[in-house]
Amino acid sequence: MKIYIDGKFYNERDAKISVFDHGLLYGDGLFEGIRAYQGRIFKLKEHIDRLHCSARSILLRLPLTSRELTAAIIATCRQNRLRDAYIRLVVTRGIGTLGLNPNRCKRPSVIIIAGKITLYPAAFYERGMEIITVPTTRNLHSALNPAIKSLNYLNNVLAKIEANNGGCEEAIMLNAEGFVAECTGDNLFIVKDGRLLTPPLSAGALYGITRQVVMELAAETGRKAIESNLTRYDLFNADECFLTGTAAELVPVVKIDGRVIGNGKPGRVTRGLMAQYRALTKVSGEPIYD
Ligand code: PMP
Repeated sequence: MKIYIDGKFYNERDAKISVFDHGLLYGDGLFEGIRAYQGRIFKLKEHIDRLHCSARSILLRLPLTSRELTAAIIATCRQNRLRDAYIRLVVTRGIGTLGLNPNRCKRPSVIIIAGKITLYPAAFYERGMEIITVPTTRNLHSALNPAIKSLNYLNNVLAKIEANNGGCEEAIMLNAEGFVAECTGDNLFIVKDGRLLTPPLSAGALYGITRQVVMELAAETGRKAIESNLTRYDLFNADECFLTGTAAELVPVVKIDGRVIGNGKPGRVTRGLMAQYRALTKVSGEPIYD
């Protein structure tokens, strides 16, 4: 595997960054998880736009323009001869001193890893998965805004540990007010009486790109997708539930906190959206090979 670091490609064992990089020392940096399907990078512009928004909000000047980032991502896929890939784009604050001060970091570093990912076993997609709500709440907007896709994922990691300890692969994180925010690496949707409902960004959800695609796909079939505050009561009374994320894609949820959701099987609306999503990934995206 060839890994891109600041304009050069390195073999996996030689791809290293400084121990003084503030990405490592303080989680001071950003990332994006992107997928390529059949030689096309799916929603690349949206991922790069989100990276720019995250960068602006933490006052990090990206060392590459959107065009240059696009070219670097495509080049990394080509170097690894990939047509289907999971691409991890990381931007760190760069090498600094042992103090927090980001102004001491001279130049942010850009790292691109293009490989494969299998987040969940195939059975989850066929039969649905079980998830639980966990005690760790989502970060407050006033503390570390969940809209920033930063390298500081301890909030999510702690929730993931709690889910794992409870025998589940994914956790539902509530916000400090008790409303559903999202999962540790996925957004959440429910279906109720034919309508699609998902927590608003103000509830502590990431502006998920798959979430946005799903809302657009729902609209195509005349189904309304509504951003609404949800409580566990709403989840327990849902007809269907599913999660969305670049790596996870769409995954049906059939049990929450030990309670069966709907009829305990992936629902009709969920399966329809999964098929629509799969079809879209095959025909759209930035071509890797001309
Ligand atoms: N929420 C969190 C916390 C995430 O990290 C992610 C992405 N891994 C998502 C939701 C899903 O976002 P997207 O659809 O853009 O991948």
